[in-house]
Amino acid sequence: MEEEKSGFHMQPAEFRDAGREVLDWIASYHERVEGLPVLSSVAPGDTYRALPDHPPITGVPISSVLPDLDRVVLPGITHWQSPNFYAYFPSNNSGPSILGDLVSSGLGVQGMLWATSPACTEVEMKMLDWLVEMLGLPDHFRSESVGGGVIQDSASSASLCAILAAREQITGGASNEEGCRMPLVAYTSNQAHSHLEKDLKVAGIGRKNLRLVEVDREFAMRPESLEQMIADDKAAGMLPFFVCATIGTTSSLALDPIPAIAEVCRKHGVWLHVDAAMAGTAALCPEFRWTHKGVDLADSYAFNPHKWMFTNFDCTAFYVKDRRALINSLSVVPEYLRNQASDAGAVIDYRDWHVPLGRRFRALKLWFVIRYYGVQGLQSHIRQHVEWAQEFASWVNADNRFEILAPHPLNLVCFRLKAGDEASERLLKKVNASGKLFISHTKLDGKYTLRFCVGQTRTELRHVQAAWETIQGAVDSL
Ligand code: PLP
Repeated sequence: MEEEKSGFHMQPAEFRDAGREVLDWIASYHERVEGLPVLSSVAPGDTYRALPDHPPITGVPISSVLPDLDRVVLPGITHWQSPNFYAYFPSNNSGPSILGDLVSSGLGVQGMLWATSPACTEVEMKMLDWLVEMLGLPDHFRSESVGGGVIQDSASSASLCAILAAREQITGGASNEEGCRMPLVAYTSNQAHSHLEKDLKVAGIGRKNLRLVEVDREFAMRPESLEQMIADDKAAGMLPFFVCATIGTTSSLALDPIPAIAEVCRKHGVWLHVDAAMAGTAALCPEFRWTHKGVDLADSYAFNPHKWMFTNFDCTAFYVKDRRALINSLSVVPEYLRNQASDAGAVIDYRDWHVPLGRRFRALKLWFVIRYYGVQGLQSHIRQHVEWAQEFASWVNADNRFEILAPHPLNLVCFRLKAGDEASERLLKKVNASGKLFISHTKLDGKYTLRFCVGQTRTELRHVQAAWETIQGAVDSL
């Protein structure tokens, strides 16, 4: 029989005790995660069936829920926080980030307007200004300039907002008034992330009006092809309005040549958005800032601290060179949200900087992370990840059964078995089935490619070494 709880709401004393138990559970999870099979092996419906068919009529203390985390939830978890997670891009977290997020939940602030909690807005402004300095981004992204930054839930939402701002800019606001009647067309490389296609659907522009620009041998966008496509579209009566360049494509971490792309955009009056979802974090280290050359020429820029900067999901830093275009495209002011500070134009109201009205106090987790690690601490972890990825690449290079398929200046290595697609795919399945690590795949030049991305908070060199041994062992017994 489960113990029934008394009273209606959790009182502070009980919260303290239960909170300690929950923190203890999380800490113990982090202690044991290294030993858990990285990839969940539950079948569809397993977790659903493990939960009761009906909700409880009477409540129980949190201590009765915790064992079910182990029994019901953990089997269905793919352990993104395992040091042996090398798949996709990371979505790492850290103690300070979790605690900052907890404080945000504790305060329970809804920061849609400056007036609904000034600190929620102003801590966010300051964190985004700090990030400008930390990544060496241009000053026009700072909050005291005409541009500025905002935290969004995801890079997908950030690109959507950039598309909406660009759409309104090119149509002089007409598209928000009458619907999108102009033949708008957008461009990105054929290696760019799929969210752009989705965003163009959502923005009412249509996926058919997204042109995929061809790439060079290093999978980076060819600016001369972009230029040609724009010219062709203009000649056909279309209206080019938006280009998304990527710093660190999802498949291979390719780096689009931003300065040359920006020049094409300037010439044709097209909005340039730069998506640096994961690789943005590399710019914390001055020696990797070459990856961001030309970002000062972009109209907007986004990167995800929730990927590689030890800040748990969700946290995308989105910047615009000129905030007016963004606000003009998203602002709606009903009477019930009017207030003196907003009316006086003296404050930032972040509800006008993204699609949702309501917003959490996400800047707290950034504040906790940046204060806990300091810039130097963050830099040293990023440097280590890059160094270990380079070591991994050197081992792959030294084994003549493998080949590397793309440049690897940062923390992603794309490789495969020379034996071909089928053998490489079998290797991936075998390695992942071992539970000892998790890697993912892509196709580069039509070839089945394995991706090994070093970016987990808890990964150490010994894990990378063990991963390589597992991979080699799996090849031996293929
Ligand atoms: N852009 C790139 C280059 C990505 O790799 C990803 C996801 O991995 C995204 C955008 C989408 O990120 P989000 O989940 O924040 O929308």
